[in-house]
Amino acid sequence: MPTDVVSALREAIRTIPDFPKSGILFKDITPILGNAELLNRAVDLLAAPYKYSGITKVVGVESRGFILAPLLAQKLNAGFVPVRKQGKLPFETHYVEYDLEYGKDIIEMHIDAVKPIDRVLIHDDLIATGGTANAVDLLVARSGAYLVGFSFLVELLALNGRGQLRSGVQAHAVLSV
Ligand code: AMP
Repeated sequence: MPTDVVSALREAIRTIPDFPKSGILFKDITPILGNAELLNRAVDLLAAPYKYSGITKVVGVESRGFILAPLLAQKLNAGFVPVRKQGKLPFETHYVEYDLEYGKDIIEMHIDAVKPIDRVLIHDDLIATGGTANAVDLLVARSGAYLVGFSFLVELLALNGRGQLRSGVQAHAVLSV
């Protein structure tokens, strides 16, 4: 992987302290999104490890997972499937309830969006504790599809979210901070 591109991406990410609440160091990826060259390279680097994996569906998580997942899907010649917060999807859904730092959340996916024959890549912009990615894994499992891997633009190493993901499934992050 060309380290200069990864460095350029890392430098473009803005860290905003205490957003959206006190104690959070928010990683703002919008400077990458707004730069045509960086956006292109980011999508290339997200796609690279899965180019020959026969991915048929990229599952993206609301809300920032929706930004790059469709671009990644297009690059991999796959479809895009949205996973949304409870009550947002119009058709019948599978759902999973999962723990947040404070309280619980429910995410949903249309029951016909992913089929047992699909080979799935789960994408989110960032992995922190791994709770969200794990919940999406459970959701995809409900469909009976094969999970090929996880894909993130940013990994927060200090929280070891990677260690919470299902073992034996590839997990790739373009950059870690
Ligand atoms: P987690 O479930 O803890 O792995 O959190 C991942 C989700 O929360 C992703 O959808 C991220 O967009 C968001 N997130 C968590 N921590 C941060 C952070 N420090 N900066 C930006 N987004 C974050």
